[in-house]
Amino acid sequence: MNRTTVTAPTTGCAELLAAITDPSGREILDPATGELVGRAPESTVADLDRALAGAREKQPEWAAVPDAERCAVLHRAADAIEAAAPALAELLSREQGKPVHNGPNALFEVGAAAAWLRATASLPLEPETLFDDESGTAVLSYEPVGVVGAISPWNWPIMISVWQIAPALRMGNTVVAKPSEYTPLSVLALAHVLAEALPEGLLTVVPGGREVGAALSGHPGVDKLMFTGSTATGKAIMRSAADSLTRLTLELGGNDAGIVLPDADARAIAEGLFWGAFINTGQTCAALKRLYVHEDVYDDVCEALTEVAAAMPMGEGRDERNVLGPLQNRAQFEIVAGLVEQARAGGGRVLIGGNPEENRPGHFYPTTLVADLDDDNPLVTQEQFGPALPIVKYSSVDDAVRMANRLDAGLGASVWSSDADRAREVAARVRAGTVWINKHGAVDPRMPFGGIKGSGFGVEFGVEGLKALGVPKVVAF
Ligand code: NAD
Repeated sequence: MNRTTVTAPTTGCAELLAAITDPSGREILDPATGELVGRAPESTVADLDRALAGAREKQPEWAAVPDAERCAVLHRAADAIEAAAPALAELLSREQGKPVHNGPNALFEVGAAAAWLRATASLPLEPETLFDDESGTAVLSYEPVGVVGAISPWNWPIMISVWQIAPALRMGNTVVAKPSEYTPLSVLALAHVLAEALPEGLLTVVPGGREVGAALSGHPGVDKLMFTGSTATGKAIMRSAADSLTRLTLELGGNDAGIVLPDADARAIAEGLFWGAFINTGQTCAALKRLYVHEDVYDDVCEALTEVAAAMPMGEGRDERNVLGPLQNRAQFEIVAGLVEQARAGGGRVLIGGNPEENRPGHFYPTTLVADLDDDNPLVTQEQFGPALPIVKYSSVDDAVRMANRLDAGLGASVWSSDADRAREVAARVRAGTVWINKHGAVDPRMPFGGIKGSGFGVEFGVEGLKALGVPKVVAF
């Protein structure tokens, strides 16, 4: 198989944009300023058919490449991303809104995408001897699924696309990726950069709206669909995938609870709580979305968290002072604003934020903390996916666990305490795919990650995540 090597690094953001945009395509506006970033090409169903046919044709050739060589290609793909990191991060910031520099933002996302490729290439996956005794021998291994469809959301477009693409390629599959219609440029730019390192035909991007996603998920040319997005769309995808029996990994919405135990040190945990909730301006699947605080430390936690929140500048992404950006789109802004109003109406005490500046360009919603909420307030029960954290006071840990578990979401959760054993006991009772202790949302390419209940099924990352991009095969003799 021909393999191109990494050539000169892709230059600036303007060159990247020139390479991927279509003058008659979909307008993509900067969520911080409303200015035009570029126009994204739109795929038709015929384009999708062509992309899937190409992926089908290429797949056996790629599957025949030895695993070690496929891993070497993933490392070269990581090199290409690293070489283009400043340009990719600038484009990502302009399209998605997150600041370029500070904190877990655009450069972090691009760096994480490269790191994920490398980590995925380093995971051990050997054939497993199930038994080898007088009755015989059985060996389990994983073969490629075939053609993988990858549908991604707009919050971490580059990183989430890599989460889908890297294990799919490692396992010998080819990929057709459908980015969110809100952030297609970042994913097109990613694919453009990866083309320097990947053999032709392994990855094709089909930008477009929901109809392209729907056509991809119902297409008989897809063997496995990786979907990250909302629970409602996940259900629609499952319905369209039924006729072709397409295998699914569904990473869906979360409404992660954090439980602060009575022995927690408010000042010590405040910054961790803040980033757990407000990373990417709250637009993160596994962000802390509802906080339960024991009455003994409630006032201290509210005060310490408010102080941290007040010190975090929000604004346009290329201004190096900012650590938080706007919401990516108006619809999300309206959801957050509506939920905060319902929290106010329900007796919530706004500790900070809650009043978006009128006439400010862009979709900026201020960092908002709302205390004294009832557990059935919509800001608690619905996923806000933005910078507004509800805080609920509790007096018994049993109640806190019951409240944490009562919703139909189970992506992540966290327990905050100065006593590690006590925290682990409580973590064992919380129903979620991952429970962190004294941190929140810290995903790791070595740790399987996925949701339960309405947050979906299947896992990404780790050896389990690789297996999810393969089909098991037993040879018994
Ligand atoms: P969304 O479901 O609206 O869109 C996600 C993608 O699905 C987009 O590419 C969209 O075009 C496509 N799509 C829409 N309708 C479709 C259909 N009928 N068939 C096929 N594809 C379709 O989600 P979003 O608003 O982009 O993302 C936010 C949501 O994603 C939040 O709920 C968040 O919690 C969730 N999310 C989950 C994870 C996770 O790992 N579990 C990670 C990030 C985001």
